[in-house]
Amino acid sequence: MEENTTIKTCRYCGKELPQEAIFCYYCRRELVTRPERPESESQSGSLNWRIVLAISVAIILIIILIIFL
Ligand SMILES: [Zn+2]
Repeated sequence: MEENTTIKTCRYCGKELPQEAIFCYYCRRELVTRPERPESESQSGSLNWRIVLAISVAIILIIILIIFL
């Protein structure tokens, strides 16, 4: 996804900015320096959601099969 580590994108307007920029040159919002990818937690969370979703869909399908057979 990120080919160039010296470039970051403004999370507000999506424009490309130098990594050292502390505020966006385009929309003038402050860019808080925090880890760029806090996705490791949310990814596992979404994985759990997918598992729960898959199980509930399977249960619904089984119930439908029981009703119709
Ligand atoms: Zn911006």
